[in-house]
Amino acid sequence: MRYWSTRGHAEAKRFSEILLEGLAPDGGLYLPERYPRMDAAAMATLRAVWREQGYAELAFRILSLYIDDIPAQDLRAMCGRAYNADVFGTQEIVPLKPLEDGLSLQALSNGPTLAFKDMAMQLLGQLFEYELGRRSQVLNILGATSGDTGSAAEYAMKGKQGVKVFMLSPHNRMSAFQQAQMFSLQDANIHNIAIEGVFDDCQDIVKAVSNDLGFKAHWHIGTVNSINWARLLAQVVYYFAGYFQATSDETQKVSFTVPSGNFGNICAGHVARMMGLPIHRLVCATNENDVLDEFFRTGTYRVRNSAETHETSSPSMDISKASNFERFIFDLLGRDGVRTRALFGSQVERQGFFTLAQDEFDRIGDYGFVSGSSTHAHRLQTIRDAYHRFGVMIDTHTADGLKVARQWTTPGVPMLVLETALPAKFAQTLVEALGMEPERPKALEGIEQLPKRFTVLPADLSRVKAYIEAHA
Ligand SMILES: *Cc1c(COP(=O)(O)O)cnc(C)c1O
Repeated sequence: MRYWSTRGHAEAKRFSEILLEGLAPDGGLYLPERYPRMDAAAMATLRAVWREQGYAELAFRILSLYIDDIPAQDLRAMCGRAYNADVFGTQEIVPLKPLEDGLSLQALSNGPTLAFKDMAMQLLGQLFEYELGRRSQVLNILGATSGDTGSAAEYAMKGKQGVKVFMLSPHNRMSAFQQAQMFSLQDANIHNIAIEGVFDDCQDIVKAVSNDLGFKAHWHIGTVNSINWARLLAQVVYYFAGYFQATSDETQKVSFTVPSGNFGNICAGHVARMMGLPIHRLVCATNENDVLDEFFRTGTYRVRNSAETHETSSPSMDISKASNFERFIFDLLGRDGVRTRALFGSQVERQGFFTLAQDEFDRIGDYGFVSGSSTHAHRLQTIRDAYHRFGVMIDTHTADGLKVARQWTTPGVPMLVLETALPAKFAQTLVEALGMEPERPKALEGIEQLPKRFTVLPADLSRVKAYIEAHA
């Protein structure tokens, strides 16, 4: 399997070449040259694999369709280490929790940091360590986080050979729980840097370091952001696992609703559907930051400026643009790299938006996408309703999904709402909705009291660089 850029760059690369890279050289995103198509027999085989051998083997079978430059036994072993009951607390890894008729939550948040980002990041940790070892290279991962991504990356990379993590976060601006999750890690290869500033200051420093090509190359700086193809690929697997749990044979269809931000999670659903997974609807749920909902309703994709970006109670969906969205548009446009480049490389860059032609917009229905948005009031209402009717506590992001999912159910078609985090991560809003603290997994009780390991630095590029030079 070869990988191409969404902007038409012709140099076809293999999986392990793009694994440690970010954007393609032409500024586009990598995608496989084609999506392997699962016919009825292949689907029946995968269903049997899921039933008899479980999630890790299912992951191996799906990943091997896209990865042909890692020996099978190595890839299988990595899937086994990433996806097991010790890491995810359940044998099913991604169990369904039925709510009302035909509608279930699919639990993706039972990993070490209680958000679905563990699903991809745990595998990425395995792949990075493997590939770096094979090349005798080291990598210093630099990132900025306001919560979920940073902690998932740290828990996936801690103790891994050849990898160090330098994670910037805004000093005293994360919740006590999120801070404790990250700062209590004692592993020598994890560096928490609390920046005296806001999240944007952290992000600006990461960007400045990445733009300093000399520094970046000399210190082997890399990232684990959501445009990484391996992250997206890992997420394809749980769409299959959800489908197999909700159906008994391949004549049935299901719909998925995905609380969306950077469009990574739902883009994996799109890939699964392109492979032939019988998905009826892919419902894109947003919060008040409705860039994506607006696009699916109108055909106009307009990125927001920072004044227009709302700080909400589902903060992991607070985006001004959706960094994986270009992948779907590339497919929608019949994989026309020139047209994709015109939209993203030129129109979005110059004027901040593009509008699809009518015939392009009309094709969206063929891909199953629909959308909806949610507000703080909806979240509170949906959290209360789920608790009082079903005795289930859901987090704020999952609440956005559940609210929008109910607008798009079809009789006879199971609807799976992806549960992207556990409520313990967003206690403040849970207390607002229910008047009580959310339940917390046993292992995380009292983590706020653990010793913390972090360094406070001013929002100053040269100080951060000096820290990396001293510790890389
Ligand atoms: C990252 C995140 C999302 C958004 O996922 P995307 O892949 O960026 O669309 C939604 N919910 C939670 C809890 C997250 O951490």
